[in-house]
Amino acid sequence: LNPIYNSEELLARAKKVIPNGVYGHQNVAMMNPGVPQFFQKAEGCRLWDVTGKEYIDYLCGYGTNMLGYNYPLVEEAVNQQRKDCDCMTGPSPKMVELAELLVNTVTHCDWAFFAKNGTDATTICVTTARAATRKKKVLAAKVAYHGADPWCTPIPAGVTPEDRAHMIYYKYNDIASFDKAVEQAGDDLAGVIVSAFKHDVFMDQEIPTREFAQHVRKVCDDTGAAMILDEVRAGFRVSLDVSWAKFVGVQPDLSAWCKAIANGHPISFVLGCEKFKTAASQIYSTGSYWFAASPMAAAITTIKEIQRLNLPVMLEKNGMMLRQGLDELAGKYGYELKQTGPAAIPMLLFNKDAIRKKGNFFCTEMLKNGVYFHPWHNMFLSAAHTEDVIVQTLQAADESFAAMQKAGV
Ligand code: PMP
Repeated sequence: LNPIYNSEELLARAKKVIPNGVYGHQNVAMMNPGVPQFFQKAEGCRLWDVTGKEYIDYLCGYGTNMLGYNYPLVEEAVNQQRKDCDCMTGPSPKMVELAELLVNTVTHCDWAFFAKNGTDATTICVTTARAATRKKKVLAAKVAYHGADPWCTPIPAGVTPEDRAHMIYYKYNDIASFDKAVEQAGDDLAGVIVSAFKHDVFMDQEIPTREFAQHVRKVCDDTGAAMILDEVRAGFRVSLDVSWAKFVGVQPDLSAWCKAIANGHPISFVLGCEKFKTAASQIYSTGSYWFAASPMAAAITTIKEIQRLNLPVMLEKNGMMLRQGLDELAGKYGYELKQTGPAAIPMLLFNKDAIRKKGNFFCTEMLKNGVYFHPWHNMFLSAAHTEDVIVQTLQAADESFAAMQKAGV
């Protein structure tokens, strides 16, 4: 595409009028220089930055689409709804249709509650757990990301100890540390929040073990605490049910969803079982745009399309092709990769790369070769990452490993 801006100039302008220029996880300041910050267009698995350079994108808007950018069927449903209206004085029938679809799709779900962001959904789960149990303590895994509100943000600026006074932390997949946290909660345990799998930045990913998952379930059953599954990142990418249905055969009481469920349109939801419906009807949680109809139309179309294409299976298959291809190429050039987590949500780190010199170098080369890989955050596949796209990606990887070897990195 034609360049529409000079990247550095645009960032300099942004920094004058926006804190940090770009805030949060989409700020690329922690990556190597040259990682594109602003984009002008996206289609399928492809992304164009403001200078006009094209990339095969393995971030999928940090997971916010899984059919590919600008998926015609979803866009058509959104445009159709927009013609009638989006934000009105009350919800459209789409809200009821979407809730019915979710109840029929996700095993533990007897009701659905809609919001906008993942943080809204995880926070509503925690509030519902406390309202239901009339208890205060909530257990969360150390460093697991559940959102940007004071109870869970990873950056402490502006957060008071009181904001987290009732949070207790355990280590993911570690029953002993979990039991210690339960003991610390005493008879005041309101809920336990667990990530779909361990998907923390900078680290290898970890699928939950069956023993850990069943133990969490049992503690919640025994104490009456709510078991909350944070599906924001994984939801529908690994399973047409909650991801713990696939990984470990365990169902939560409450689950929080956001990314990918409406293929890039803004909506999140909380799903719950019957036992927590009364509490969910007692809490007060709402927002100016939470009843908007077009993201609901997008979600209905997206979920039906994910089901029709059985996308988790397709993403796993293509993800495995990518994983195996990268491993072979790394071996060819004398490198060793650590590729962890579900193949549809891959994490790619280099062995013996404590300061991530190799990872950063490789991802910079990949960018030069037209592929957007992330050096320390998990990535995402979509339906648009077809076999021929994977082949193209592997060609870029071949050249990138060769450049790395030549540079002696
Ligand atoms: N939970 C998880 C697992 C997430 O990955 C995220 C977003 N990265 C959130 C919660 C928060 O979602 P949001 O940024 O939409 O508030």
